[in-house]
Amino acid sequence: MKMMRFLAMPLLALAACAPSPDIAEASNEQASSAAPEALAENKVSAENLAKWRKDNSSWYAAVEPFQVVGEQGAGIYFVGTEGLGMFFIPTADGHIVIDGGMPDQAPMVADAITKLGYDPKDIKILLNSHAHLDHSGGLADLKAMSGAQMIASEGDRSALEGGFYLGSEEEDFLLAPPVKVDRIIADGETVSHGGVTMTAHLHPGHSRGCTSWTMDIAQGGKSYEVLVFCSATVAANRLVNPPQYEGIVDDYRSTFDKSRDLKPDVFLANHPGFFGMAKKREKQKAGDALAFVDDQAFGKFITVIEGWFKDGLRKQTEAATP
Ligand SMILES: [Zn+2]
Repeated sequence: MKMMRFLAMPLLALAACAPSPDIAEASNEQASSAAPEALAENKVSAENLAKWRKDNSSWYAAVEPFQVVGEQGAGIYFVGTEGLGMFFIPTADGHIVIDGGMPDQAPMVADAITKLGYDPKDIKILLNSHAHLDHSGGLADLKAMSGAQMIASEGDRSALEGGFYLGSEEEDFLLAPPVKVDRIIADGETVSHGGVTMTAHLHPGHSRGCTSWTMDIAQGGKSYEVLVFCSATVAANRLVNPPQYEGIVDDYRSTFDKSRDLKPDVFLANHPGFFGMAKKREKQKAGDALAFVDDQAFGKFITVIEGWFKDGLRKQTEAATP
């Protein structure tokens, strides 16, 4: 029944239900004290992947990789699909990738990077928006092919290293290949590499360690602040009775408050639909070099999804009230 309900949901719904982060943390601690280097086994099944592929075809619909903003050989490039946003930031000292897509999509991301003229083996840093399999699934393979350092927040660490969906640890359908986190990033901390500096913004709620990233990118003599937003949709997350994880409602609220302080020139996210990529890309192809620059876009998006959150909380609270 649970699975049926899940399958019937629209994609953004990636986020199931269940209690207790403690279970996950306890087992993760046990595993790490017994064998510090041993990662959990990859339990993603081909059968489940086939279902995901069938139910979310846009996640697998090819998009020609392209530069979003930046000068020749620098800036940020899109290496995802119609439905999933993965991003590539080249530097002279090796490259940075944000998100790996689904568990079977690392080869696709690697191909996109190759098409852009770079070697995926030269990825040095892997970042993750959040530990849900449609964004973290390909990271283990990208790490294996490049030896890159995996950087993530403490809140998402147990799910990344355990390969599960926090609060739905028992749900096979939501498993991802476990990936070892090499460095923990805190709110406001930066990652500097090859002349590029990226700032982490912790936006918990959608996942406990949801992390957005900002960076400044130059184009045509001007600098643009680029945001790759983690997400703050409720999707199928349980907010009450019991919550997906303790403190989730307060986390969403603080994330909406914090988001109002951000006014990026370029708003990007891990689902292209969030930032209207297809239309902007058309404008770019038609010759508008600044098609992705719109400093109002993120504020508008946050207002919309905050409304969704309030609705979702009201509905879930009503449903939980006898
Ligand atoms: Zn998600």
